[in-house]
Amino acid sequence: MIKDISDLTLKLKSMLSSQHSVYLKGSVADYIPALATVPPQLMGVSVATIDGHIVSSGDDQVPFSIQSISKIFGLVMAMNRMGDSLWQRVRMEPSGQPFNSIIQLEWEKGIPRNPVINAGALLVADVLASHYSSSKLAFLSFMRQLANDESIQIDQNVYQSELAHGNRNAALAYLMKSFGNIEAEIPDVLSHYFTQCSITMNCQQLAQSLLFLANKGIDPRNNKVICTRQDSHRINAILSTSGMYDQSGEFAFSVGLPAKSGVGGGIVAIIPNYGVICAWSPPLNKFGNSVVGMNLISGIANELGLSIY
Ligand code: GLU
Repeated sequence: MIKDISDLTLKLKSMLSSQHSVYLKGSVADYIPALATVPPQLMGVSVATIDGHIVSSGDDQVPFSIQSISKIFGLVMAMNRMGDSLWQRVRMEPSGQPFNSIIQLEWEKGIPRNPVINAGALLVADVLASHYSSSKLAFLSFMRQLANDESIQIDQNVYQSELAHGNRNAALAYLMKSFGNIEAEIPDVLSHYFTQCSITMNCQQLAQSLLFLANKGIDPRNNKVICTRQDSHRINAILSTSGMYDQSGEFAFSVGLPAKSGVGGGIVAIIPNYGVICAWSPPLNKFGNSVVGMNLISGIANELGLSIY
């Protein structure tokens, strides 16, 4: 475990400098055109601890598109609203399919495999759009509260770009609606989902916003209950089995932490009872995970012996 914070600062610096040409091995997501404009050489990493430390290096204060990392926060809100009945509409199994695959959803009659593939996140977006008078505002204010920063914003460029290129997500949502598993109107579901994906935050903010998952549901900075202890365990279980797209098994095998990545190049990893790592570098591998982000998180986890298994 991490004993000496100044030692960790040096380690992060040297890990980052070892990655300076590695980003060239990946490619920035371009199926959402606005994401393709982010400079590929940017990279940052932050480690926040439940006892109040934050250690960071590189472009750790540059905001980036959180994309699928937002699925964690949407899930927390939906679990808080729906309780156990949520699990009648979405399952908790790994999908073994790409994150935006549609094939399995038809076989399985419109019930998504888990809440962190796109179908599952759209189902969660439906829950939020149906239960809040303004789910987008509720989501944004939840993020601002967790990050303790009222300036957190939605990137309208990314939002418009997702909307204009969102046919596959629309297809997933309409297919679920055809099975009766979506309540709200599809444009409202998509609008909520693209809004939460388009929020921009930096490594420091994301690491701190997720401390409650390392601390049994309680935000250690102010002792607020963000979700129940049982739900924090359940979310970490889902992140362990499904959070890293179709590379989740390999990630559990080689790193061993609950984690979630997004196509904006961010990865967050929860260190139970200790803290959260957030790494960011835009170029992705073939699974959709940041190449440098994976190296940084596995470097930290292996160096410090953090695997939970
Ligand atoms: N907004 C992205 C999409 O729906 C999120 C994907 C991701 O980060 O995994 O395709």
